[in-house]
Amino acid sequence: MSSGAAPDPSYCRFIARRGSPPLDGTASLGVTGVEVDLGADKPRHIWSYGQLRSEEPIRPNAIDVLLMSKDEPGASLFVQGARFAAELRLRAPHLSARAAWLREKRMWFFLLAIIAALVFAAYLAGVSPAKSIAKALPDSWRERLGKATRESMTEGHKECIDPAGLAALTRLTERLSKGVPGNIPFSVHVYDWPLMNAFAVPGGQIVLTKGLLDKSVSPDETAGVLAHEMGHGIELHPEAAIIRGFGLGATLEVMLGGTTGGGLANVGLMLAQLGYSRGAEREADKHALELLKAADISPKGLGNFFTRVMKLEAEEGDKAPGAFSWFRTHPLPAERARLVSEQRDYPSSPALDASDWQDLKSICKKTRAPEDAT
Ligand SMILES: [Zn+2]
Repeated sequence: MSSGAAPDPSYCRFIARRGSPPLDGTASLGVTGVEVDLGADKPRHIWSYGQLRSEEPIRPNAIDVLLMSKDEPGASLFVQGARFAAELRLRAPHLSARAAWLREKRMWFFLLAIIAALVFAAYLAGVSPAKSIAKALPDSWRERLGKATRESMTEGHKECIDPAGLAALTRLTERLSKGVPGNIPFSVHVYDWPLMNAFAVPGGQIVLTKGLLDKSVSPDETAGVLAHEMGHGIELHPEAAIIRGFGLGATLEVMLGGTTGGGLANVGLMLAQLGYSRGAEREADKHALELLKAADISPKGLGNFFTRVMKLEAEEGDKAPGAFSWFRTHPLPAERARLVSEQRDYPSSPALDASDWQDLKSICKKTRAPEDAT
């Protein structure tokens, strides 16, 4: 090969259109384009540089190229030779890997713009943007956020881990999970905490307190509360509340870093105190009734619990302020009771049998200090 301004003609293979036989020839870099010579009896093809396309970006170390051209749609040209490839990159820079990288960057920018537009459209349509964002997050991120939130919310309380109690809790959770749309893997954690409370944190994690188990007179009551909290989980209410309250940046930081991080130190407190909107509570109730029905558990437990505990609060609330936290953050007791009473009867059995229920109630026989938690 000589070392002129343009390399000597290189071996090439030309295919006029898909399925037609390949023709051997030579290709060279002309003034305005790639010139293809397929023999004296065949017409010369000149593919101008500006019209060239390549299947893959041409990298600096390429040893051959596969070209297409808008001048001859359907035709393809394979040219062998590192020198040809390198010179072609200079004459048709849009074929280079760097140009492809820039195009990809533009594509990402374009995608982000589309996402932003979708979130904005969802916002205009009345769907919360925080929830749209929460939905788009990977499961493992939600799980990490949930763990950090749970640790923050239950600080100072031990997790209850008596094996028989855990087994009963798993059975109840699995039974209620039958009606869960989209396979959210719910996990329920009980804490040795006298406060009567239950809440959902991100990633399908739910916290129940010993205070709530103590005040339940039947497994159906606990199942009702649990189903309601699962309803919040299905609707991603905890995720959306955290994104709304702390901003996407701080939330992402916790999800990516996996720590409770300074920015979210009070995340648990915030979730525990605020409660959700009335609309969110209605959504959770609606899911609760569906989950109970799919599990053949009577919805009456959910209604009973409310009326009974409200009475209890009226009598004892002054003696133990804050003891009824769950009911304070849960408005619409009358509406909830009506919703339950409107349910058509269906065949049901107790949420747990007598022995499982006793095991669950004594799940705090054995506890684990927060430091030991994995
Ligand atoms: Zn609720």
